[in-house]
Amino acid sequence: MKRWLVFFCILLFSLSIVLSIINKFIIDNTEKKALIKQEEKEEKQIIEYKANQTIRVKMCKTNEIIAMDINDYLRGVVASEMPAAYNIEALKAQAIVARTYTYRKMLENAEGPDVDMCDDFKHCQAFYNKEKLFSIWTNRGFDDSTRIDYWNKVNEAVISTQNQVITYNGEYIKAFFHASSPIKTENIDQIWGGIKIPYLVSVDNVEYENYPNRNSEVIVAFSDFEKQLEEQIDDNFKLSNIDDLKEKIKINSYTTSGRVKDIKVGNLIVSSEKLRTLFGLKSTQFEVNILDEGISFKVIGYGHGIGMSQVGANYMADNGKSCLDIIKYYYTGVDIITIK
Ligand SMILES: [Zn+2]
Repeated sequence: MKRWLVFFCILLFSLSIVLSIINKFIIDNTEKKALIKQEEKEEKQIIEYKANQTIRVKMCKTNEIIAMDINDYLRGVVASEMPAAYNIEALKAQAIVARTYTYRKMLENAEGPDVDMCDDFKHCQAFYNKEKLFSIWTNRGFDDSTRIDYWNKVNEAVISTQNQVITYNGEYIKAFFHASSPIKTENIDQIWGGIKIPYLVSVDNVEYENYPNRNSEVIVAFSDFEKQLEEQIDDNFKLSNIDDLKEKIKINSYTTSGRVKDIKVGNLIVSSEKLRTLFGLKSTQFEVNILDEGISFKVIGYGHGIGMSQVGANYMADNGKSCLDIIKYYYTGVDIITIK
């Protein structure tokens, strides 16, 4: 009798273990299915995110917030960020980049609850309305028919690429762009102290040699250099403490694409990004030389060097490449999709 009781208890115990395993398996599977469903839903939300919508743009000078159609906004951005004289395929690439940049920022809610984008190019993207653009073009000496031609091109760039955006793994990319990188574009992790982003990696770049901002030089007087470094970096900094300037002011290290990462001034290390903002250098690709009148920075290119080079995009377009070729070249491994 006792033996039967023991046997019965063991049977009950085993049964309860089997039941709990089955139960866990069912719960796990249900959770997994729910998770997959959630992921599918989120992906759909990203892709379908408010195509053809109204956008609220803050004018930074006046703090005025203007609601406008997304295409009106994009026409203004494309014409403000890229010369309208550029090849139509480069302008179309700029339109897709601008649209992607806008949607990503909107998704991130970067401007807060009441505004989608602002018109400050350092924070969001430059934006002028049609009237302002025509007056800028007039001031630059363009005649009536050129101005109309420019506007038609900008309009075509936006409308012919309508709803097209750049994605990577189903998400809008960080669509950074810049004016010019005559040799190579930059890896994002090499500047801004950032992490690697697989589509923002350095690529070889060919540009027009006659681009006006390709080569520039800034000569900083010794007194200005000393003052800025003392005020912005090290309270005790004095150039007079450095014996041999030619020997003691030099480039300390380079990024993988060949831009300057930092320079050494005596014992002080100064990042090239800091120098770029302090002394208005057009890029961080430069040579340093000590002249009688001050410190010379001979600079190549214009901008941070990340993502699409606009001058390079125009060069590619003039050589028969489409806007999609251009985007796929500067943003490695991306997809270009149309939002429904
Ligand atoms: Zn902004």
